[in-house]
Amino acid sequence: DIKKVNENYFGAYSSFGIHREMISDKVRMDAYGQAILKNPSLMTGAVVMDVGCGTGILSLFAAKAGASRVIAVEASEKMAAVATQIAKENGLWRCTEGNDRYTGVMEVVQGMVEEIDKSIQIEPHSVDVLLSEWMGYCLLYETMLSSVLFARDKWLKPGGAILPDTASIYAAGFGRGGTSLPFWEEVYGFNMSSVGKELVQDAAKFPIVDIVDEKDLVTDAVLLQTFDLATMKPDEVDFTASIELEPKLSSLANGLLNSTELTSKTTWCYGVVLWFDTGFTLRFCKETPSVLSTSPYTPKTHWSQTIFTFREPIAMASGKLSVDKSAAVGTDTCPAARVHLRISIARAVEHRSIDISIETSGV
Ligand code: SAH
Repeated sequence: DIKKVNENYFGAYSSFGIHREMISDKVRMDAYGQAILKNPSLMTGAVVMDVGCGTGILSLFAAKAGASRVIAVEASEKMAAVATQIAKENGLWRCTEGNDRYTGVMEVVQGMVEEIDKSIQIEPHSVDVLLSEWMGYCLLYETMLSSVLFARDKWLKPGGAILPDTASIYAAGFGRGGTSLPFWEEVYGFNMSSVGKELVQDAAKFPIVDIVDEKDLVTDAVLLQTFDLATMKPDEVDFTASIELEPKLSSLANGLLNSTELTSKTTWCYGVVLWFDTGFTLRFCKETPSVLSTSPYTPKTHWSQTIFTFREPIAMASGKLSVDKSAAVGTDTCPAARVHLRISIARAVEHRSIDISIETSGV
């Protein structure tokens, strides 16, 4: 039942390892740090709410940035106590009961953001900046976005800022190099390819969270879905989108340049990898916008990428390619077959997980 699921979920956030991992993720910290610390016109004097404060790190940034009040909300009892202690130790605790030892701006409210009405002294719709780091694997795993949208609709002022304010999911196809096949084919001179084949079969059943090397991508990246967090409706978290993946021009071009027999080239697509970015755009971050990207093209993050292996690899771009090198490179004269994908992602609320379905067909 949902109570047990939440107990397990918030229990997982009660161990320090996970917080250390997040705080050590430089890409993540830089993106949030820039958005919070380098946008004084947004943060100075603002009333800020941090949904899911964990150690309180983003709230501490907000306090440092000159917020007038920072309400750090955390469901895990353990982490709420930790954040409280940290705020006190850093001289940032805000005491409402005339204790002048604590003249800071930060307070910690323990509870789910959906249920904190009674423990917080603030009117609905009076928060200037809603801050949260809610993203899970493949963006939506953990389904915490729904809690952030709930907080937005309840506590944020009309026209108030939400950080981040955009989130997008991208997809690209990967080749043989993105599977375990090459690894097991040659192990100290022995052939262990049966292991590789078994692993590819298993990978077709469940997605894998791991780093994908940019060089293993065989298609260009395509935008799957964009969310505008300032305006989206809570039920728009679930979506279905169709995309077409095309062989990446550079891999075709390389093939052309290295070969004199330019009759046909088949690119095998073994599966699709998803990743996301979130934007702290000019809409609210007028001085210094920022982007947090978890793509295979940029430095890695603790989210890695999410890898979905097809049951069977799909052939792309079979057919005749232009023989004229200069004409073929950088033009769209290559008669490339495409892979059509229909991807649905929906919350499985009781499990705090997501259901993802991917249908493929060649075009
Ligand atoms: N803001 C911190 C922690 C991010 S992890 C940081 O950036 O390092 C997300 C945190 O949100 C976890 O500590 C989790 O317990 C908390 N959380 C998730 N859903 C919540 C909810 N509905 N209400 C309050 N806290 C929540």
